[in-house]
Amino acid sequence: MTVKEKPKLAIYWASSCGGCEIAILNIGDKILAVDEAFEIVFWPCATDFKYADVEGYPDGYIDLCLFNGAIRSSENEEMAQLMRRKSKVLVAFGSCAHEGCIPALSNLTTAADTFDAVYIDNPSLDNPAGTLPQTVTQVPEGDLHIPVFHNTVRALDQVVPVEYVVPGCPPESPQIWAVLEAVINGVELPAPGSTVIGASHLAVCHECPLEKHEKTIERFYRPYEITPEPGLCLLEQGLVCMGIATRGGCGALCPQVGMRCEGCYGLLDGVEDQGANMVSALASVVGAGKPGDSEEDMEQQIAAAMETLVDPAGTFYRFNMAQSLLHRMRAGSNGNGNEAGKGAEL
Ligand code: SF4
Ligand code: SF4
Repeated sequence: MTVKEKPKLAIYWASSCGGCEIAILNIGDKILAVDEAFEIVFWPCATDFKYADVEGYPDGYIDLCLFNGAIRSSENEEMAQLMRRKSKVLVAFGSCAHEGCIPALSNLTTAADTFDAVYIDNPSLDNPAGTLPQTVTQVPEGDLHIPVFHNTVRALDQVVPVEYVVPGCPPESPQIWAVLEAVINGVELPAPGSTVIGASHLAVCHECPLEKHEKTIERFYRPYEITPEPGLCLLEQGLVCMGIATRGGCGALCPQVGMRCEGCYGLLDGVEDQGANMVSALASVVGAGKPGDSEEDMEQQIAAAMETLVDPAGTFYRFNMAQSLLHRMRAGSNGNGNEAGKGAEL
């Protein structure tokens, strides 16, 4: 009797917080079904595999690789190339791999300035010699190497092609299970090519139970500034809820508990830039004067409302910076000349 070979599963964690790995474990006892259905051939967070093990596999040996984390360093990039080569199906799993997520907010500055903030201009650090991490350090035993910290954070599919994307920060566990179950049961997946699976094709607003009216808003509030009225749309109460410009699938988890959607499931189908999509949506809800007001008055009222919107880049591009049209700060735009421009942006 021949024993049927199980499909081989790899799970890898690049530049991210680890929440995606926890979300996988949050599928609860279904993890036993995963273990039963797959042969786990690489999962550094949970098992003791080494990079050398993966390097030793033939190309295309891994049937399914869930790759979470953005590409921040040379190590992340090498692992993206390696996992691409060894995997039949590579999935950008979670917001960091999908669109850069929080790590990609550092595209608003440079690697040099990030090091400065972390190692030099940091009140909780005692570093009088101004020592910075070096990629090569000579010790009596030889040279020690650490990865190069790139200037620009990229999403996985900006480095290697991926078949599928599972969005979310982190992806919701029921959806992770739905994707794994589909693979286990041999359900045909949609055509590959950075295709979103495990999420909705409609906006978060579509699944949000909060009541919406035709209400305009005069000013914006940060979440700590007001206690929202229960049951009513948060955006209409002045909280910059990104639900209108964000892919659904999470069940509108955040608005349901009074927290604005921050946009973690990423941009909607057919939209090129999540932030621009949100700005355009806001244009229809910001109060712009009353009949009889001059154009100048209206402009002033709009400008006053927009003044109350703190940290627009961090609000509109919290999860999507790497995939956005902005992608990163322009050459030299922080005035220190560190940024060498698109051609040298790594
Ligand atoms: S804007 Fe936010 S609170 Fe309002 S309906 Fe959409 S998701 Fe719900
Ligand atoms: S409501 Fe928005 S921020 Fe919250 S989990 Fe859903 S997509 Fe993410």
